[in-house]
Formats: sequence, structure tokens, C-alpha cells
Amino acid sequence: MPSVASIPPPVSPADPTGLAFWHEQLSPAEKTFLRQVAVFAATEVAPHGEAWEKQEELPREIFTKAGRLGLLGMTAPRRLGGRGFSYVTYALAVREIARHQAALAIDIAAHNALGCGHLLAAGTPAQHRRVMPKLLRGTWLAAWALTEPEAGSDSGGVQTMATEIGRGRWELTGFKRYITLGRMADVLVVIAVTGQTPEGRKEISAFVVNRAEIQPLRKVPTCGLRASDTAEFRLTKANAELLGERGHGQAAALGCLDKGRIGVAAASLGLARAALDAAVKHVLHRRQFGKRLADFQALQFMLADCEVELRAAEALVLQAAILATRGVRHTLESSVAKLYASEAASRICNHALQIHGGYGYTRDIPVERYWRDARLSEIGEGSSEVQRIIISRALLKSAEGALASAR
Ligand SMILES: Cc1cc2nc3c(=O)[nH]c(=O)nc-3n(C[C@H](O)[C@H](O)[C@H](O)COP(=O)(O)OP(=O)(O)OC[C@H]3O[C@@H](n4cnc5c(N)ncnc54)[C@H](O)[C@@H]3O)c2cc1C
Repeated sequence: MPSVASIPPPVSPADPTGLAFWHEQLSPAEKTFLRQVAVFAATEVAPHGEAWEKQEELPREIFTKAGRLGLLGMTAPRRLGGRGFSYVTYALAVREIARHQAALAIDIAAHNALGCGHLLAAGTPAQHRRVMPKLLRGTWLAAWALTEPEAGSDSGGVQTMATEIGRGRWELTGFKRYITLGRMADVLVVIAVTGQTPEGRKEISAFVVNRAEIQPLRKVPTCGLRASDTAEFRLTKANAELLGERGHGQAAALGCLDKGRIGVAAASLGLARAALDAAVKHVLHRRQFGKRLADFQALQFMLADCEVELRAAEALVLQAAILATRGVRHTLESSVAKLYASEAASRICNHALQIHGGYGYTRDIPVERYWRDARLSEIGEGSSEVQRIIISRALLKSAEGALASAR
């Protein structure tokens, strides 16, 4: 591995905003960590990115290496084996990995913010002692299972049933689909129905389930992020342990998504930067009509629009990450960042593909992969439509509040 001092900061050379914009938020330890992440991404991830894409899987070993570096416990407390870093560092690390291999970045983000995030937020000290050190060091992986055939955008549609069989012991029966790390995870957080609320609604709770209790069905073939283990599994009287208070599972899940969306947005930034870097390089080399593509104003303007959108997306992700680090509510900011960054990344990857012409549409270069990978961010962890619902609700609620107090 090259020495940490000899490598550039963890941003693309074509990303002049990287240092000034983000690094003021970082401690010396975080800067060192991000330089190590850049070395890891360049030496351990980038050379294998295409092979993993073709094989449609990531080797377990890469998670072990990521764990050794601290990538699997970035924001978790140090007393449990985490690194105790800020969400800004978390976002930058996910962005850097996504520049090289978005499937790995999304897996790392889901493990950190959803699986570990839920366990950290709702687990008892005994549960923490039992699972967190292994998860945070990467000996184990965590998945987070909310989605089912009837529960996608509507998390209240969960049908997996939980039956209490003893004090704190439960059995789960149901079917989960589209779960990141669903077959690879050693520990799963599973959302299930535990009864009815006094108002007649479903009472939804969260559970910790060991891998041995689930029946993996298949890896789902996806458009992009092909190396990620997007899986379906069944639960048949699976032994489970309540995670957090009974009936608090849905609220806790939504809280985890506030953090999760920062990771999805950060992966979008990495993909968009990789695509834009490739487009800039291409226009400088390719010649048509006796000129470089870079000399055509139509393409210059396309590149300019991409750079502006990417910088705007970075600012929104930073805003959400700072609020998350401060521990203040950031539901709105995470939604805004995820909505804008994911849609901007899709537009940027699409422009980058267009700028490459026929070459962009081939699988000889990774631009088409960036384009396919970026698309997930507009769907996963709440689609763009769901983000618009969250944002408009917040806007209208605050305006209604202001009107009511003016009366
Ligand atoms: C690669 C991948 C990884 C994933 N990883 C995980 C994971 O780790 N854990 C997990 O629990 N889930 C995971 N998911 C599931 C993901 O979060 C859901 O796919 C997503 O929330 C959308 O749900 P759905 O697919 O059921 O779509 P649906 O809810 O059926 O939505 C279909 C369309 O209808 C729109 N729509 C729905 N409701 C409304 C409304 N009220 N107003 C307007 N439009 C609406 C949606 O925006 C969307 O365009 C993953 C999915 C993928 C593809």
C-alpha cells in the first residue's frame, strides 16, 4: 500500500471544492482516516470493480479489510469498537468508495446507518455488548429488513408477524425482499407486526435475528449495483429478540432512514463525480469535425451544468451531515439532500454517457455502470416521490403553524 502521506486527499483532482468545502469540518484523525480510505479505494477496490460487477458479487474479504480500516463502524461510539467519527466523515468515505464501486459503498452505508444504526439507537447494553464489537470491526455484517411485497413506500404495510413465546423471545413468520446484504449478513434487524394499537392500527416493532434463523431465497437480479447482495428471504417461526420498545419499531426505522439517506446521497455524489471526471477527460481527447469535443459549446455547457448541480448536491449533503453530527433532527435536510443528490447524479451520469457517444453506451468503459448504479438512489430508502411528500409536508406544516400563531 502507498504511504498515507504520498496520496492526494480523498477527492478527485477535478473536484476543487473537496478540500476547502468539507475539510474544515474534519478533525486531524478524520482527515487521516479519509486518506486511508482513498488508498483503500484506489488499491483494494478500484482494480477489482469491473470483475466484481461481472461476477455480481463482492468477496467477503473486502468487508473484512473495510472493517479493519474502520469503515464498518464509522460513526459508532469508540467504547463499542466504533470510530466515533462525524456524519461528514461518513458521507465523504461513502462518496470515495462509490467513485470506484458503488455496490460496495451502498453495502457499507446500509451496514453502518441502517443495521448498526438501528441496533445502536434501540439496543440494550447487553445486546450492544453481544453484537456491536463484531459488527463494528467487520467480523460480522448487518442487514436491515423493512421491505416486503406489501410494504415498500408504505412502511405500515408490513405483514411479517411476530408472536411472543417467552419473556423477550419471539418468533417471526413472513417474507422480506430487496434487502441489502440479505444473504451475507450475520445479524439482521427485522421489522414485524406485534399486534394492534389501541387506535386499531398495526403495532410495529423491531427485532434482532441471527442469520441461521432466516431462509435465503435468492439474490435479486438488479439493473445496477449488481455486485451488491440484494436478497429475498423467508422467516418461518424464526427465533428473534425484541429490539427497542414494543410498538416503537416504525418510528425507530424512520429515524434510521434519516441517517441512511445521507449515505445514499453520498454514494450519488461519488458516482456523479466519477461520471463527470470521465466526461471531462473524454472531451479533451476525442476529436470530431477537426476539433476536440471540448471546443463545442453545447458540451461545455453540459459540463458546466453538471459541475453546478454536483456542487449544489454536495452542499446539501454537507448540511444534512452536520445536523446529524450535532444530534439535532434532520429529517427534512436528509430528504432534501437525498432527493437532489440522487436526481442530480442520474442527470450527470446520463450527460456523461451522452458525451461519450456510442463509446458511453458500451460496456468497455464504466460510464454505463455509473448510470445504472445511480438510478437506485432515486428509489431506495424512500423514492423521490416519498422525499417530495416528506419535504412538502414539512413546508406546509411550518406555514400552517405560522398562520395559526399569527391569528
Ligand atoms: C437495490 C435495492 C436495495 C434495497 N435495500 C433495502 C434494504 O436494505 N432494506 C429494506 O428494507 N429495503 C430495501 N430496498 C427496498 C426499497 O427501499 C424500496 O424498493 C423502496 O422503498 C420503494 O418501495 P417499492 O419498491 O415497494 O415501491 P412502491 O412503494 O410500490 O412504489 C412504486 C412507485 O410508486 C410511487 N409511490 C408510492 N407511494 C406513493 C405516494 N403516496 N405518492 C406518490 N407516489 C407514490 C413510488 O415513488 C414509486 O415510484 C432496496 C431496494 C433496492 C432496489
